[in-house]
Amino acid sequence: MTLSRILATTVLVFSHANPTHAQTSILGFTPASSAREIEIESKFKSVPSAEEERRQHRIFTSEPHVAGSKRNHQLADYIAAEWRKQGLEDVVIHRYDVYGTNPKSVSLEMIAPTHYQALLREAPLGVDPDSKNPAISGAWLGMSISGEVTAPVIYAHSGNPEDYDLLRKNGISVRGKIVLVRYSNPYSYRGFKALTAQREGAAAIVIYSDPQEDGYKKGRVDPDGPWGPEYHIQRGAITYDFMVPGDPLTPGWASVPGAKRIPLEQAMSAPKIMALPLSWHDAKPLLENMDGPLAPEDWQGGLPFPYHLGGERVKIHLKIEMDNGTQPYYVVEGRIRGSELPDEWIVMGNHRDAWVFGGVDPSSGTASMMELTRSLGKLAKDGIRPRRTLVVCSWDGEEVGLTGSTEWGEQFAEHLRTQAVAYINVDEATSGPNFHGQAVASLAPMLAETTRSLQDPSGSSLYDAWKATVTREREEGKQTGQMNDSGVANETLADTRIGSGSDHTVFLNFIGMPVIGLQFDGDYGVYHSAYDDFYWMNHFGDPGYRYHMLMSQLWGVTALRLANAELLPFDFASYAGNLRQFVSELAKANENKLLGQPPSAQAGEVRELHLDLKPILDAIDAFEASGKRLNESLHRELANGPVDPKLASILNHGMMQVERNWLNPDGIPGRPWFKHMLYGARFTYAHLELPGLTEAVEKQDWPTAKQQAELLERALHKNTKLLDELTASVQ
Ligand SMILES: [Zn+2]
Repeated sequence: MTLSRILATTVLVFSHANPTHAQTSILGFTPASSAREIEIESKFKSVPSAEEERRQHRIFTSEPHVAGSKRNHQLADYIAAEWRKQGLEDVVIHRYDVYGTNPKSVSLEMIAPTHYQALLREAPLGVDPDSKNPAISGAWLGMSISGEVTAPVIYAHSGNPEDYDLLRKNGISVRGKIVLVRYSNPYSYRGFKALTAQREGAAAIVIYSDPQEDGYKKGRVDPDGPWGPEYHIQRGAITYDFMVPGDPLTPGWASVPGAKRIPLEQAMSAPKIMALPLSWHDAKPLLENMDGPLAPEDWQGGLPFPYHLGGERVKIHLKIEMDNGTQPYYVVEGRIRGSELPDEWIVMGNHRDAWVFGGVDPSSGTASMMELTRSLGKLAKDGIRPRRTLVVCSWDGEEVGLTGSTEWGEQFAEHLRTQAVAYINVDEATSGPNFHGQAVASLAPMLAETTRSLQDPSGSSLYDAWKATVTREREEGKQTGQMNDSGVANETLADTRIGSGSDHTVFLNFIGMPVIGLQFDGDYGVYHSAYDDFYWMNHFGDPGYRYHMLMSQLWGVTALRLANAELLPFDFASYAGNLRQFVSELAKANENKLLGQPPSAQAGEVRELHLDLKPILDAIDAFEASGKRLNESLHRELANGPVDPKLASILNHGMMQVERNWLNPDGIPGRPWFKHMLYGARFTYAHLELPGLTEAVEKQDWPTAKQQAELLERALHKNTKLLDELTASVQ
């Protein structure tokens, strides 16, 4: 407590003593309106306080609040009441009746070669009072099916398809057996592991946290350090939301009460396998008793004995009873109405539901959101209103299948497609000091510029701190691909590879809105466990709540710039540069596939290309040239003073249309809900650029690849023409 106060005061002193506004003109503003904007932002930035962040964080982390629970509903009511007090307008709670998931009873016992009854619970930590809360759930995975099975256990490493290939090479089939897999190494979304096990015919999947990935092999464990202790359990859902997110029974439309629903059997995203998570404490007796071949070197883990693939020796009895069925989820929505362009929306959101307390995920984000809304409300009370409307949402059921945001997005899709400027997501606000900013490439320059006007707790600007993080991560080899040869990424810093796994998905992939994602991270080994709580945040994640406060400031300043800009700060030349990179990476990764085989094996014969990417690259060149011309025209227009409102409206709506034009109404092949042609996610949740085209090339399905390439080329031409029309309207 004392420490946090001292640190908070220090930050305030810094930000007053050392203003970072060397710039006089902001992207999208005239010189005069830039000055006004800087003044508004500095008022806004002075409101958030570290103590308030901590107070709000405590409210959200005081009790478990999983999706669909009474507590999570109470917190929705609390947010709505606070927002009204803070001065937000049109505060409403939307109810969606969705297919939900809850555990009834779960047990796992090893019956051979010896007996072991799994605890399936997390041991309390003496110094952390919350860890003794009797309301903490046991081990469970959302959307597991109910069932009972007694079967041998096979160790399938990370549970990815290539792991089963290796088992097959060793003569091991998992059909009818229980597979034991670990969470990472390499990382893949647990829902993908479940689907893979289901396809392999396994009777059940058990997923454990190996200490090599998030435990003692990484460093000191909670309560002495940020990593996961012996008993920590990573809960989570296994929903196949990489096929279609949201309520599995209403794919593509909102689950408002009374909505039409498809039968569960037809729901693509509903898993059909039993699944359970384990702490390493509970996985250890199984692993150390296994026989069968010795697992390969890279399958070995952090426990102090050799891992085997398994055979008939270890048998377990697993029983899972779930209570899956329709239940209400609640999305809270509030806004600050725009003074000049109230129909144009900047949407912001954070999910509220947590697996347990949600110290980092998501309550750090929720606390930052509450300080964001208090600060925006304060400005409105003082008569400072944004030009466009700011819409803020507290999502429910993100953890289950991105459910609340998806249903809300589907419900308001029509308005969003015509009037929404962008969506800014904050899921986990902070688990440490390293900034990670994501943006579609057209907004990457404005995000970088925004971070220049904020002060990092280290004393430098957030921009410099971000640059240092990116540089360090690149050196450590964590950041692959985008930081190699492109100057674009170096200037704008933002990660422009946007996969799925949080609430931005519906806005980008279904509606075609530009998105931004903001997060601070650090060493964090208690994800989705009961130890991700208030104690953890106050000792490891952000003890002074300074990064929470910075998040509220950054989130708000980014939103205010988008809300107040005279001409929206999109940079399509930057977009083109990024796209070119995506295409050249696709070409490089699939070089051999793209080149057809020669008709005979004779040397010197010219190989014919299966797919020529040159037309796309030419179209990108044209789009880039048009983007540059538009940038120049807009800069000139802004430099000359106020922009005629009618012209501004034409330009802004035209620029908003660009992102929409990347959508293919039919969606990417096999996944009609995912409509964006540039961004997608693999089933593992990994980002996937040019998803339709890339998947077709990887499968060597050349007719589909040609069709996808043509769609992309057409969208590029359409957007090039649109930019040219906008440029012409300025002259
Ligand atoms: Zn989250």
